[in-house]
Amino acid sequence: MALISPDSVERVKQAADIVEVISAHTDLRRQGARYVGLCPFHEERTPSFSVEPQEKLYHCFGCGVGGDVIKFVEEKDGLGFAEAVEMLADRYGVELEREQEDPQAEARRQRRRRLEQLLERAAAFYANYLWESSEAAKAREYLAGRGLGEEVLRAFGVGYAPSAWDKILVRGQQAGFSVEELRGVGLVQRGRSGGEYDRFRERIMFPIRDRRGRVLGFGGRAMRSDQGAKYVNTAETDFFHKSQMLYGVDRAKAAIAKAGRAVVVEGYTDVLALHQAGIEEAVGVMGTAITDDQVAALSGMVDEVVLALDADSAGQEAMLRAQRVAAGRRMRLRVAAMPAGEDPAEMMAEDGGSERFRALSEQAEELTAFQVGLVLARTDVGSPIERDRALAEVAPVLAGMGESASRDDLVRRVAERLDLDPAMVMGRVVAATPVSGGREGAPPEASPGSEAPRPRRSAELTSRERRERALLAMCIAIPGEGKEYLSRLTDTHLSPTGLRVATWLREHPEDPASNLPHDDGELAGLIAELVIMSREEPASHEAMELNFLLLEQRRLEGEIAAAGERGDYERRAALSRERAALVNRIAHAERPAGSV
Ligand SMILES: [Zn+2]
Repeated sequence: MALISPDSVERVKQAADIVEVISAHTDLRRQGARYVGLCPFHEERTPSFSVEPQEKLYHCFGCGVGGDVIKFVEEKDGLGFAEAVEMLADRYGVELEREQEDPQAEARRQRRRRLEQLLERAAAFYANYLWESSEAAKAREYLAGRGLGEEVLRAFGVGYAPSAWDKILVRGQQAGFSVEELRGVGLVQRGRSGGEYDRFRERIMFPIRDRRGRVLGFGGRAMRSDQGAKYVNTAETDFFHKSQMLYGVDRAKAAIAKAGRAVVVEGYTDVLALHQAGIEEAVGVMGTAITDDQVAALSGMVDEVVLALDADSAGQEAMLRAQRVAAGRRMRLRVAAMPAGEDPAEMMAEDGGSERFRALSEQAEELTAFQVGLVLARTDVGSPIERDRALAEVAPVLAGMGESASRDDLVRRVAERLDLDPAMVMGRVVAATPVSGGREGAPPEASPGSEAPRPRRSAELTSRERRERALLAMCIAIPGEGKEYLSRLTDTHLSPTGLRVATWLREHPEDPASNLPHDDGELAGLIAELVIMSREEPASHEAMELNFLLLEQRRLEGEIAAAGERGDYERRAALSRERAALVNRIAHAERPAGSV
């Protein structure tokens, strides 16, 4: 399929009524030139969601989401960019023009689409086979025995793979797919003798879908104990990466957004049992530990994750990595301690199980405190060697937390239990802190393939980021002077995100809000926020200059510190004099009314 021309996209945006589109999801009230209402993306009582009807932008000052009318439809209806444009074109009667895309890209897109269809058909075949075949009777019995009803099994598309070696191989080819395609999605594999056969046989099949509900792979549970691995997953393919997937996320995402948190469990049947019991914010990690990619994916959706995993067996290293990613994304990871030997699915099958599970989730302890408690509990404090080992184990956990009151509390707890001086424990923690070469306030790099980072709430911004945003918004409000400041701002003044916005504004001086980048949701959201800010907050030459000088001061301070680290004391002295002069200028700068 050819690409929609940029011109058509622009016409769709012109024709669409953003107030009408958004009003289907929340009540909007006019306030001056804009509309405000309760945010449809997060739970709130006082409105912080703002819609700018002329520029067709929205932004929530509470949770930080934002973009144009197309982005809103993408997010709210779970559509891709092209689908969102098509939907709006249809609704507002715009004829779309398409243009030829690069033949290679088109071939890749077509291949991907065919493979998606193939997986979708396979999932439908397995699901049908579960309910229709006599061979699957024992699977139906097993699932019923776990307390899972037909409704939830059908909703998740649970199926059954027949015991024959070639059902999918033959049917797939009959439907016009090649053996290469069947292998490409991991449904068929090649044996030692070179022949192909079905990867999944005699197994209960759980289709694993992405956030938009597309099947990317399967998990298969053995029906017999002599059948090899109890669980077999789709092998890693071009688009199935198990460590990045969250089982059930397509069905959980609305509940997750509403609850503001996700509950993470191990297995497929745990997810099904929780959803059946009305705990619909549950997703599965398909293993004993949550991976850093999964944490990153969730950080785009929530602030808090409750792990109902067997955290004891999850592996310290994996949990530490997850914790570090979570801390970098300002996300809380908590552990709901499950009773020994009981998984969530079993708990749901008991009377009052869902209430007990909810209570455990409410009482969940911070992951770090949980891990420290675990180490302390199994330490024989009578033995000095054991105490040393325990200290060596908890130090990196505490170091990963960053400076905080809760870390200080834990340090005291460790010192008391191991009968050590708290200052000595703190010394070990500091020694275990990784040396960061990153910039101040910069979040850790997103790992490849992870979802875009969650937009940051304005309350979480550092004063420098607030200043930088205020200045950039004023550059939009007063484009003439804005141009001058944009040319003076360098990467030493700005955070990485600020720099991306500045680059965008330099490249789109006339109309920053039209043609927002649709492949970079974070940037699009930020520009929407700044354009809305530029309409609302007073801008003046004085305020711009003052904000610029303050960013300049931060730049100098960074250079002073760097010169000191290099041992270049001459340069440091020169820079310090420059800073003194600047501080003096700032003190005497004209203050705009109502400035900070
Ligand atoms: Zn919001």
